[in-house]
Formats: sequence, C-alpha cells, structure tokens
Amino acid sequence: MSPEEKNNVSTQLAFDRQHIWHPYTSMHTPLPVFPVKEAAGVRIILEDGRELIDGMSSWWAAIHGYNHPVLNTALSEQASKVAHVMFGGLTHEPAVELCRLLVELTPTGLDKVFLCDSGSVSVEVALKMALQYQQARGMKKKKRFLTVRGGYHGDTFHAMSVCDPTTGMHTIFSGALPEQLFAPRPQCRFSKLVKDWQQDDITPISQLLAEHHEEIAAIILEPIVQGAGGMWFYHPQYLRELRVLCNSYDVLLIFDEIATGFGRTGKLFAAEHAGISPDICCLGKALTGGYMTLAATLCSDQIAQTISQGTPGLFMHGPTFMGNPLACAVAVASVQLLKQNNWQKKIKDIEQQLRRELEPAKNAASVADVRVLGAIGVLEMRAPVDMASLQKFFLDQGVWIRPFNKLIYLMPPYTINSEDLSRLTDALLKAVDLSA
Ligand SMILES: *Cc1c(COP(=O)(O)O)cnc(C)c1O
Repeated sequence: MSPEEKNNVSTQLAFDRQHIWHPYTSMHTPLPVFPVKEAAGVRIILEDGRELIDGMSSWWAAIHGYNHPVLNTALSEQASKVAHVMFGGLTHEPAVELCRLLVELTPTGLDKVFLCDSGSVSVEVALKMALQYQQARGMKKKKRFLTVRGGYHGDTFHAMSVCDPTTGMHTIFSGALPEQLFAPRPQCRFSKLVKDWQQDDITPISQLLAEHHEEIAAIILEPIVQGAGGMWFYHPQYLRELRVLCNSYDVLLIFDEIATGFGRTGKLFAAEHAGISPDICCLGKALTGGYMTLAATLCSDQIAQTISQGTPGLFMHGPTFMGNPLACAVAVASVQLLKQNNWQKKIKDIEQQLRRELEPAKNAASVADVRVLGAIGVLEMRAPVDMASLQKFFLDQGVWIRPFNKLIYLMPPYTINSEDLSRLTDALLKAVDLSA
C-alpha cells in the first residue's frame, strides 16, 4: 500500500469511528473494524492486503462465496433493464420468476408470496398475516404469539418481542414491547432417529397452548436450528408434535427459515427434517446469495383467502422497495445456481469434515459442547469469550470468524474447499487452546 493509500484508509477509519454505527456497538468503545477492499470466492481481502478465509458467509448469506460471475452477470444485466420500479400496480419478470421458484421449492402448501426488504420485516409481515387472519375469522382475542426461549427473529419491534427474553432486548424496551408467551427451549438434541426423542420435551409448550390457546394467534420459531439465540439444534419430532398441537388448538404455525433456508442444515429448508409444512414461512439471508437485501414471507392459500375475505379485505403492508428487480434477479440466479450445483453433496462433505476436525475440541476443559449440523459447526465454551483478543487472534490466523458470547462457530460458503475449511477448523482448535 502506498503512503497516500494508507493515509486515505486511516482517514476513512477515523471517520467511521466518529460517525458510523456498526451492528450492536457502542459509539464510545467500539471493537476495531477492518476495511475490506474486495472479496472473491471464500476470501475477504483487506485494504492492507491481508487475505482472510471467510467462516461466516456474512451471516448465513454468501452461500456461493463472493464476487461470483453468475450472480454478477445477473445483477448487471438486470441493472441495464430496470433497477427498480414500484410494485404497486406494476410487476416484472424477476419477481415472477423468483416467486415461481419459491412456491416450487418450499414445503408444500406455501403458495402465496409476499416480498419484502429484510428478514426482520418478513417476520413483521408473518406476524401481521397471522393477526389479520385471526381477525378476519372473527377470532378477535387471538392477538398474542407463543414461541420458545433461545430464539432470534430480528430487531424490529414485533420481531424483538418474540426473541429470547433474556438475551434479547426485552429489559431495555419493557413497556414498549408486546408481551408474548415463552416455552422453554426444546431440550432434546437433533437426531434423525425417532427413538432419540423424549416425549416430555413437548409438555411445557403443550401446557401453554392448553391454557392460552384462545388468545394465541400463532406459534413462531426457527425450525431445527436456533441461530443467533444460541446455535442450538433440536429434534425434528418437536416440530411434528407442534404441527399436531397447532391444528388441534386452532393456532397458526410460523417457521422462521431466514437462517436455515437454502441448504444450510443439509435440507433445502429445515422443515424438511420434520417432513411438515408451516402455515407461514419467512425467508431471507441466503435468498440472494448474499448480494442484496431481500426477504419473503410465504403463506398458505387458505390464509391468503381468509385475509382477503375479511375487512378491509387487503393485506396491509407494502414497502417502497418491494420486489426490487435487482434483488429478485440476483435471487433467481442464486437459487438456480444452488439447484445446479449438487449442494446436497457439498453440504454433506462440509458436515463430515466439520465433525471430524472439530471432534478433538470435545476433550478441552474450556469447551462445554461441540455440535455440527449441515454446514454449521459450533463450539460452545464454558465462559463467554474475549471478543477483542479472539478477533485479533483469528485475523492473525488469516481467517474471518466472529464469535459471540460463549459461541465460536463456523458457517462457511458452500463453495469452500477442504483445505480452506481445515484452516478454519484449525483456527478454532487453536482458539480453544488459547482459552484454556
Ligand atoms: C437474521 C435473522 C433475522 C433477521 O433478519 P434481518 O435481515 O437481519 O432483519 C430473523 N430471523 C432469523 C432466524 C435470523 O437469523
């Protein structure tokens, strides 16, 4: 880097520190941020020339890696046609093609698609759909939501209200947030075998339903994998039991597949582990392969019909950038790329390698648990990690891994090769030694 470039970068960093919020940070004492010059494949290249292997897929999103020629082409070709038009009264091929793919690929019965801007908004839309549905049926008392502890559904207000009440933001916003109902986190671990299921795991939520079903519009939860709320994998039978309970208590079932969608857990959608369909489903994150912000809320025909027959007979949501053509075009390209690329085998290979290479961490005294599912590998430590020193350590190892609280975890792009993946797992094992 030339002296001028260096100067330029440090001026930018100084401005950033003075003026720009980063996610969940203080303006007083932020952790350092690192300027990115470019990214390609699974490598993030910093302004100072350092190359980092990406272990995060930019929060579940960049599943094909960065700077992908197919996605780049989709974006630039669309930009030269139309970058954006309002979705009120107008439509276009990228939106139609995307929704066609989503209806085809998601679990059966999810036939109506609402496109929106971000994951949190798609959760707001899902909750609003549930409320309007219950209202249209004359079930005016059904205004609350039931969920499980340890969940994460986003940062907007109704989404926050169904996040874990302890690690979420309930205390800060108490009084301003709607009060929802919480069952304990599912305890029974993920397994493909029904014999590993413990029936009493469903008892607490079943009791809450029995007691409160008259005021509950819907249950919302992340199927199989709880992400930002603790990276916890639970048994698919829990979801099958919930499906039956929701039907018998006349409560809708909402799956938040924003993190789990598009192959991450080894199935295209995590609901497939349980072989059931929710009534409403939220998608986001990997939808555009990490290129643009876009999300979708899908629902059953019956929900859409009921809302449309109620008063006012309209679904009351319509963001400015709804169905943005650039985002839809790149999403179509990303989903098609996934379909063409034998993703099942890739995820299986990543899963097996993560299992094999993270296994030794089980013996470390500082590690409470090691778990792997699909292309997700998690070390749960006994104590919260020291973010500042660990971040520096990972940078020195040439990897981009961002732990939180007690969790050090990997969710690399699906395109990672085994050598690069070994560098990520190796960095994790070294980090464990460091925390010993
Ligand atoms: C990230 C996430 C959200 C929120 O999505 P944003 O795009 O950040 O608003 C909601 N639910 C789950 C499960 C997520 O992982």
